[in-house]
Amino acid sequence: MTDDLPTLTADGLETYLHCPRRYEFAQVHDLEDSDDERPTRGRVDLLRTVICDALRRGKTEPRALEATASDRLSELWRGHDERFHSRAQRRHELAILEATLEAYLDRFGADHAAGIDRLEEAAPDGEFVGPELPLASTRSLPGATEGETNSNPDRVRIDAPVDYVYGDGAALVGVRFVPTLAPLGLLRYRSEWEGDVAGLFVDHFDPDAEAFEPRVVGALFETAVVLDGLRNLRDDLDLGDRTCRYVRIPLADRSGTAVNWVQNTVETTLESIDLTDVYIDHHTYGMTHEHRNETVDSRLDDVAGDVIAGSFDPSARWDQIERHACPNCGYTVCCQDYLSTEVRFDG
Ligand code: SF4
Repeated sequence: MTDDLPTLTADGLETYLHCPRRYEFAQVHDLEDSDDERPTRGRVDLLRTVICDALRRGKTEPRALEATASDRLSELWRGHDERFHSRAQRRHELAILEATLEAYLDRFGADHAAGIDRLEEAAPDGEFVGPELPLASTRSLPGATEGETNSNPDRVRIDAPVDYVYGDGAALVGVRFVPTLAPLGLLRYRSEWEGDVAGLFVDHFDPDAEAFEPRVVGALFETAVVLDGLRNLRDDLDLGDRTCRYVRIPLADRSGTAVNWVQNTVETTLESIDLTDVYIDHHTYGMTHEHRNETVDSRLDDVAGDVIAGSFDPSARWDQIERHACPNCGYTVCCQDYLSTEVRFDG
C-alpha cells in the first residue's frame, strides 16, 4: 500500500540540498518565504495551463492547436491577477507570453500533441496531460528493516509531477515546464554522466570538497524519480517495453527573446533539454538494462532517509550553506542559525 507511505517531493529534496533548515521552514512548518520570483512563476503557471488545456483538447493539426491555445491564453490572461507598473508593461508581458506560446507550438506543439494522441490510442484509460500529472517513485530507506511502522518507515514515496507525457517512437517522454534552464548549470553542456557530471555530483557530497551544487544534484534526483515514475506508468498501462526519458522546456527564458520597441513586436526561441543521457551511467545500464544510475539513486535514498529522520541541522555543511544558500534565502529574518552567525560577526 504505497498510499500509507510518507511522501516527499523532488522539489522539496532540492530545497533540502540547499539547506536542511530551509526545508524545515518550508515543508515542515509551512512558512512562506519572501520570493522575488513569484510573478515569473505565476506567468509560467498560466502558460503551463494554456498549453496543457490545448493539448488535452486533442487537436493535433497545427492551426487548430494554435487557435485553441491562443483562445485559452486570452481567456486566462483576462483573469490574471498580477500588479503591473503600467498598462504598457501588462501589454508587454502578454506579448512575451504570446511569443513564447508561438515558439512552443512551432518547435514542439504538433509533434507532442500527436505523441499524446498515440498514447491515448494505445491506452484509452491513461491520463497523459496535466498540469501536475502525478509520477512517483517508491524508495527503500537505507538501514531500515522491512515492515517497519509509520513512525519508523522502511520506505518512502517521492513525487515528481510532470506537465504531460507523450510517445516518441519507442520512448515514453515526460515533459515539465520550468521558468529557465539556468539552474541546470553544467548539465546543459554535457551529454553524459561519466566525467565532469559524475565528478561534480560526488564532490557535492564530499565534506572536504568546495563544490556546492544543490540545483544540479536536485535535477539529477528529479530525473531519477521521473524516470521511475514513467516506468511505473508504462507498466500500469501495459505500454510495452518503451524506454523512458525526461525533458524540461523553459517558458520564461529571456535569453532567446528579441524585443523590437519600434515595431512593438516580440520574438523568442525555445530550447528544451533532455536530462536522461546525462543521468544514466553506463555501468548501471549494463547491469540492469534500464535507465538508472546507482550513484544518484543511492544518494537519493540517503537524502530521503535524512529528511524522514528529521535531520534539519545545517551545521555539517555550514560553510557552504552560509556562503551559497543564505544570501538568497527568504527565511533569513527568522532563522536562528543565520542570525546567530550575524551576531557573532557583528560582535
Ligand atoms: S538563512 Fe541560511 S541557514 Fe537559515 S534557512 Fe536560510 S539558507 Fe538555511
